[in-house]
Amino acid sequence: MSSALLENYGVRDLALSHGAGSYVYCEDGRKYLDFAMGIAVNSLGHCHPRLVEALTAQAGALWHTSNLFRIPASERLAEKLTGLCFADRAFFCNSGAEAVECGFKMMRRYHHAKGNGHRKRIIGLSDSFHGRTLATIAAAANKAHCEGFIDGDTNFDQVAFGDLDALAAAIGEETAGVILEPVQGEGGIRAVDSSYLKHVRELCDENNILLMFDEVQCGVGRTGSFYAHQQLGAEPDILASAKGLGGGFPVGACLAREAVAAHMSAGSHGSTFGGNPLAMSVANAVVDEISNPGFLDQVRANGAYLMQSLRDLQAANPGIIAGVSGLGLMIGVFLIADAGRFITQLREEGLLVVKGGNNSIRLLPALNVRRDEIDQALAHFAQALKKMESKQ
Ligand SMILES: *Cc1c(COP(=O)(O)O)cnc(C)c1O
Repeated sequence: MSSALLENYGVRDLALSHGAGSYVYCEDGRKYLDFAMGIAVNSLGHCHPRLVEALTAQAGALWHTSNLFRIPASERLAEKLTGLCFADRAFFCNSGAEAVECGFKMMRRYHHAKGNGHRKRIIGLSDSFHGRTLATIAAAANKAHCEGFIDGDTNFDQVAFGDLDALAAAIGEETAGVILEPVQGEGGIRAVDSSYLKHVRELCDENNILLMFDEVQCGVGRTGSFYAHQQLGAEPDILASAKGLGGGFPVGACLAREAVAAHMSAGSHGSTFGGNPLAMSVANAVVDEISNPGFLDQVRANGAYLMQSLRDLQAANPGIIAGVSGLGLMIGVFLIADAGRFITQLREEGLLVVKGGNNSIRLLPALNVRRDEIDQALAHFAQALKKMESKQ
C-alpha cells in the first residue's frame, strides 16, 4: 500500500486497532498474543486500567506547561527513581536516544568542569544499540545504521562485547567514559556477565572515567530487578532509561550520581516536552505498579519458567534453535533457521515477537503476563516449530 510516509520502516502489513492486557486486535477481529509489546514499551500490557486512569485524569487537568514552571509530578518521579537505584538526580526527556544523548553530554561536561576538556571520546561495545541520533549511531557504530550519515572519526570508539583486554587497551588520555547495555537488546538478547561488569567498573575507576549504562530496553523491571545492573553487581555513574518507563507513553530519563549531575547547571541542557505532566502522570503510575511488593518476584518466576520451557523446545528442535538467552522477561532465541521466516510462522499461529540481531527473535511480553498466557505463547511456539520442520 502506498502512503505519504517515509519508507524507513520497510513493509508493514498488520494494522492493529486496539489492545487489552497481553492481546492486540486487528479491525477485522483477528487476535494476537503480543510478546513484542511495542519493543518492551508496553510494560504493563495494553490499556492497563491504572494507566488509563492516570492518563485520562491528567488529560482533564493539565497537559503541558514547559519546564519554565515546576512540574510536581516530575519531582515525584525523580524522587521515586533515584530512591530505587544508585542515582541522585534525574532529567526527563521523551525517548531513549535523548536519554543516552543527555548522558553523553553529562560525561563531557564532567571532564570539562574538572579541567579535562580533552576527554571527549566515549567507548561502546560491538552489537550495541543506543538510538538513531547522530551521536547514538556513532556510539553503537552499526554499519547499517551509519551508512550515509556519518563516517571518519566521530569521537566514539568501539571494542568487542565482553573483551576486557580490548577495553583496557582502548582507554586513553582522551577517553571520557564507557557506555554499555547490561543486557543487549537490538543486537540479539545477551547479558554481560557479572564479573566482566565489575571489571569494567574497576577499569573506569582506575582511569577516572565515567561508566554509563544504557538500560533503555532492559530497565524498569524487564529483567526482574528494577534496573538490570542491580543483579549484575556493578553500578554506573549515569543511566539511560526509557521504553518501558511510560508503559506506552513516550518518556525517557537520564539518571546520574550527584558528582556528575552537579555540572549540569542552569541552561546547560533542556527539552520542551521532557517531563511534561501527561508523561509524568503515566510514568508515576507505571513505577508505582512495578514497585509493588512481589511484582518483580513474579517477573523473575515467569521469566525463569519461559526461559526453561524455551530451552526444552530447543533441546527437542536442535536443527532449528541454536540457543536461548536473556534475563527475566527479556528473552532471545537464536535460530539456525531464518529468523524472519520463523517470525512470520509465529504470527500465523497468533503470536507476535520482535526480530533481534544475529538471526534471533526477542520475546518481550508484558511484565504482568499471566502464566496461562505464557503457556499459550509456548503452544504457538511449538506449533510454529513443527511447521518449520515440515517445510525444511
Ligand atoms: C530502543 C533503544 C534506544 C533508543 O530509544 P528510542 O526511544 O527509540 O530513541 C536506546 N538504547 C537501547 C538499548 C534501546 O533498546
